[in-house]
Amino acid sequence: MILALFGPPGSGKGTQAKYLIRSLGIPQLSTGDMLREAIKSGADVGKRAKDFMDRGALVPDDLMIALIGERTSQSDCQKGFLLDGFPRTVQQAEALDRLLTSRGLAMTAVLSFKVDRAELVARLSGRLVCSRCGASYHERAKPTKVEGVCDLCGGSVGKRPDDRPEVVESRLETFMTSTQPVEAYFRQQGRLLEVDALGSEEEVKQRVAAAINGGRAG
Ligand code: ADP
Ligand code: ZN
Repeated sequence: MILALFGPPGSGKGTQAKYLIRSLGIPQLSTGDMLREAIKSGADVGKRAKDFMDRGALVPDDLMIALIGERTSQSDCQKGFLLDGFPRTVQQAEALDRLLTSRGLAMTAVLSFKVDRAELVARLSGRLVCSRCGASYHERAKPTKVEGVCDLCGGSVGKRPDDRPEVVESRLETFMTSTQPVEAYFRQQGRLLEVDALGSEEEVKQRVAAAINGGRAG
């Protein structure tokens, strides 16, 4: 089972990814999380990626493709994996296809999360994330029980630097220009499953499950 979650920043990919990996027993490959960890640990990849991320721009394709190539060859990916935040350009999508083909594999499905722009801005500007487990919260819609402390793991919860309003705008812009075309690419391959991502986490979770169970032939 090789799945990818596609959608704009703030569409809830990360939240749903956490549910999916639990029910499917495959690892989540979140390129955003991988890059943030690389920055934290001082790894070379992190140094090359940081400026792009701070501006809300995309990290260069060659770096991302190498990162995913390496990560998917690790042993925990043998039974499949869930891509979250990759591919984000048509070049990345093509590289992924080549990579999978060379290993005798193919994408199972791509879930495309649909949310309107006003909702995205509202979600991102109030978003809080756990620096330890990656759980997502929201200042108003889903606060932590204790301020600044993750309900799930006790880790520290705060704002991501790229959730500042100016950066949110450029991330949405980057999505529209560079990433949106990836959707048509997968639709053409007949692998795209659209999911209405408005509503509660639970509602979206049900729709995601229904899409996966009903949409394999599509
Ligand atoms: P979001 O989807 O909420 O914007 P992510 O955590 O997925 O956030 O990504 C954060 C940043 O990491 C992006 O704005 C971009 O700079 C970089 N990034 C993540 N994945 C990719 C990718 N596949 N290609 C290029 N840059 C990426
Ligand atoms: Zn946590």
